[in-house]
Amino acid sequence: MRKSLSPGPRPAITWAETPDRYDVLQAAQVHASTYRRGLEDMPCSPRRSYREMLEVFSEPLPERGSDGVSVLNDLVARGEQGLTPMTHSGFFGWVLGGSSPVGVAADWLTSAWGQNAAFHTSSPTAAAVEEIASGWLLNVLHLPAEAAVGFVTGATVGNFTALAAARGAVLRRAGWDADNDGLFGAPPITVYVGDDAHTSVFSALGYLGLGRNRVTRVKSDDQGRMIATDLAMQMADRDGPAIVITQAGQINTGAFDPFADILEAAQTRNAWVHVDGAFGLWARAHPDYRPLTNGVEHADSWAVDGHKWLQTPFDSGYAIVRDRDSLHRAMSIDASYLPAVGERDRIPSFLVPELSRRARGLPTWAMLKTLGRKGVEDLVGRHCAIARRIAERIGSADGVHVVNDVVLNQVIVSFGHPEHNSRQRKALTEAVISRLREEGSIFVGGARWRDDWVMRVSVICDATQPADAELAADQIISAWAAVSARPSAVRPPG
Ligand SMILES: *Cc1c(COP(=O)(O)O)cnc(C)c1O
Repeated sequence: MRKSLSPGPRPAITWAETPDRYDVLQAAQVHASTYRRGLEDMPCSPRRSYREMLEVFSEPLPERGSDGVSVLNDLVARGEQGLTPMTHSGFFGWVLGGSSPVGVAADWLTSAWGQNAAFHTSSPTAAAVEEIASGWLLNVLHLPAEAAVGFVTGATVGNFTALAAARGAVLRRAGWDADNDGLFGAPPITVYVGDDAHTSVFSALGYLGLGRNRVTRVKSDDQGRMIATDLAMQMADRDGPAIVITQAGQINTGAFDPFADILEAAQTRNAWVHVDGAFGLWARAHPDYRPLTNGVEHADSWAVDGHKWLQTPFDSGYAIVRDRDSLHRAMSIDASYLPAVGERDRIPSFLVPELSRRARGLPTWAMLKTLGRKGVEDLVGRHCAIARRIAERIGSADGVHVVNDVVLNQVIVSFGHPEHNSRQRKALTEAVISRLREEGSIFVGGARWRDDWVMRVSVICDATQPADAELAADQIISAWAAVSARPSAVRPPG
């Protein structure tokens, strides 16, 4: 059944009796909780396109301003029309967290307190909270307690930050100070990357002057896992500084690289091993899934997201580096009016590529305190069980093919019968995805995987509960039934 597209009543909020410049903070609170409370009754797809939203917001810069509450009312009236319901229980579109209310509330305080979290002298609270939260993160992720954690905007910057430390460290071993002298004339670094690495890794390599294309590709298997013997063979042919970039949680399949074998090959060559674990590293919070990551704790650096499985709002990722000194050297900012480089207490901006920065650790601290170790474990366990259940239900339907081994929270699916060629399968799969988007009960994504076009179901939003597995499976099966009943769908004989 198609749900109503109307946004429902949104009373404009006024506090005309006692006008006060802080009223706007309460207005935001009322608007936010009204939106989140009503979301489950709304269709799980955006109502307006980007072009439409440009129209909605189009107006010249006002000559004179207005009061904050009416500006906020206006933002809500217009803005809510073009929101994608990413915090909805039926949202499986991309690998994103669900901006849990606690994380959002802590994020509001981050802004309201107006702290510049660059130094512990500028904001003792911000720096102390980051320091405590970093210990908790290392603990829940079972990573070395001595590692440094930089609170960054997301895993892309997490990869960048950790790889900057890697670049400096491997060149230092070769007698070159890249952090101060740059890369011109430096000994070349060989960067090994699996064929199914996340695209953001290549961006990070580009920012670092290591080149998006100047990488040595390592073959991967049918699940997207790096093949360790191929890595070992390629490494045997080369000397010199080397960085190996591995992955915990392939963006389509959820698969994990074989870390123990990779580390053995890499460490005999004295290479730096970095792990892009944006969402997959959270598997370490659950004893049943931790074995998928065995050996990963021996790597040199890791990038992880808070705004995925930990459910903080966006603007939350971590660059984790075992050797604090390498991270400091890569990220420190030195000036007479700033604290001295080399200080032992936490200086947040020496761990990230920022000077003025928000107190980004607060939502992480609040989420970890709210969930506790058991809560994080349960979250991971619940989502993985939901993914398995969806795969099991839809995988038994005729013409539905679950393409990956569902080891984590990711299910990729293609639709069609053996008689269909890949072009026809792509058309059928795309038709199922658009039908689901039109119906608006769940939101799923699409992607290319090998020779197939697949539907992607990413189970990672904190609002998603076990019952949503049944709903999602019913919706997918009935969308496929409708698509395959169309005369245009090529039917297998009989
Ligand atoms: C999401 C993701 C990234 C990028 O993280 P952002 O937080 O979007 O910058 C990198 N690698 C993997 C495997 C991811 O899933």
